[in-house]
Amino acid sequence: MSDGATIDGNEVLIVIDVQNDFCPGGALAVPRGDEIVPIVNRLAARFRHVVLTQDWHPRGHFSFASSHRGKKPFESLAAPYGPQVLWPDHCVQGMPGAAFHPELDIPHAALVLRKGMEPTIDSYSAFYENDRKTPTGLVGYLRERSLNRVFIAGLAFDFCVRYSAEDARREGFAVFVIEDACRGIDVDGSVGATRASLAGLGVSCISALATA
Ligand SMILES: [Zn+2]
Repeated sequence: MSDGATIDGNEVLIVIDVQNDFCPGGALAVPRGDEIVPIVNRLAARFRHVVLTQDWHPRGHFSFASSHRGKKPFESLAAPYGPQVLWPDHCVQGMPGAAFHPELDIPHAALVLRKGMEPTIDSYSAFYENDRKTPTGLVGYLRERSLNRVFIAGLAFDFCVRYSAEDARREGFAVFVIEDACRGIDVDGSVGATRASLAGLGVSCISALATA
């Protein structure tokens, strides 16, 4: 296929944070986030190798606005590692909001990678925490299994999908973001900024149909 998105064995689909709290009715709902669930299920069925990520914070996590006196959700804070958007409490370890969406159906996923567990640092990316230095181990997992073409879907397009795609590209993987299998939050133009950043790094934004 001309766009290089044909699936032939060394690809991995990384499904980012399809969890209750990021879907309508959840604590940090991504608008229409639940729409991607059937798309992701169909997509995943075509991949031999699938990794699921799960945002998984301890109570009182640094990224929660409620952890900072006088701060409201969606305000920003200067963290030691750079600006950090503050969020409503979400995806607390073991709580129903942190569970995968009940209709997510990917029984052959080999790895569930949890992130955001360090109390004082957020982790948007599946590869590095927000200091962009502390690894989750996923680069090693993919390299050891010779999975060098990374397809990414999930929530939210302009945060965890974006950071994951950027880190994967910087690590030298070929990266495809399946944009119709993502939904964004769009805080202060973050969806447009994401498209520009991904294009600048050579990350292809494709549709689920392009992987058929
Ligand atoms: Zn989080």
